[in-house]
Amino acid sequence: MRRPAITQAMRAQVAERYGCRPGQTKEIACHYCGALIVISRLGRRTRFLDSRGRSRPELDHVEPLYWGGEHVVANLVPACLSCNRSKGPRRLAEMTP
Ligand SMILES: [Zn+2]
Repeated sequence: MRRPAITQAMRAQVAERYGCRPGQTKEIACHYCGALIVISRLGRRTRFLDSRGRSRPELDHVEPLYWGGEHVVANLVPACLSCNRSKGPRRLAEMTP
């Protein structure tokens, strides 16, 4: 199954959910491990950055698409690179700490 693209519009909507408006930056936490993620909406694009300013955190489907999760903003959370990589198509409840 091809992964559907997470569009800029979807990124912007997730940022709004965290209270980050256009022209702002906001520090939030990885949904899974609490690592710092910085939302940057200073430019045209909405970006999710790690503590070193790299665009490594990504949006993750809480309920994996593999298990029937929907490709909608409500199912997207920011996750740091290591959480995104280690989670794969598992549900959060199945993750070991
Ligand atoms: Zn994390």
